[in-house]
Amino acid sequence: MKRREVLRYGALGTLVMAGLAAGIGTLGGIMLLLRPRRASAPAPAETSAPTQPPLPPPPIVSRADWGARPPDHTAPNETGFADSARDDGWFAYVGDLAAVYNTVVIHHTATFPAQDETMADVQALHMDRNGWADVGYHFAIDANGVVYEGRDVHVRGSSVAGHNSGVMGVVLMGNFERGQPTAAQLQALQPLVNWLAQTYALSHLAAHREFNSDSLCPGDNLMPYLDSVAQVAGLQRGTDGYVPPV
Ligand SMILES: [Zn+2]
Repeated sequence: MKRREVLRYGALGTLVMAGLAAGIGTLGGIMLLLRPRRASAPAPAETSAPTQPPLPPPPIVSRADWGARPPDHTAPNETGFADSARDDGWFAYVGDLAAVYNTVVIHHTATFPAQDETMADVQALHMDRNGWADVGYHFAIDANGVVYEGRDVHVRGSSVAGHNSGVMGVVLMGNFERGQPTAAQLQALQPLVNWLAQTYALSHLAAHREFNSDSLCPGDNLMPYLDSVAQVAGLQRGTDGYVPPV
């Protein structure tokens, strides 16, 4: 210990120095004596909710980077999955998205095998076959666990017939009625859902089939993972978070 550090303790240092001079202090005793008193922190208010630091977004391949086509606002069937016949097809949310979104819905693309599937394939299917204005999902995860940006999150998705408002659509590429999700996909799904749940103040995670009982999506082999994904992300399971448009 340097002398000036001892001196910083003033009277205590003097006492220790005196102890040293008297040859009665052990090194351990000196260290104990010199330990600064811990400042007493104010007790946290018991009513304050714990605040979590913002999660960073996972790596996401942007639309520009996967070569997305721009939305087609003349698409004939963008209203096909809308919540009601009165809904406009291309519906841009206004205001705080955290107040808009409530549920993340998990899908599979139902293609098999999935290894060669690309985001351009998914978008082409939705635009050219389904007649939608853009890819219907907001995010996608390929078999290698790469996460892609889908439809702009500021726009209502087209993935859950009659229940798209406030729903964040996430698809895993593959057919999980026939195959298994890859470990890489599942490892990518959790941090994506964690981030979505926090960023958009979500309350629920649902499977597509839970909204649309005529659908097998996202497949029997993906369903067993959803409870755990929801729990880790702090979300309730099921469709109760859905709020119909007013
Ligand atoms: Zn689906």
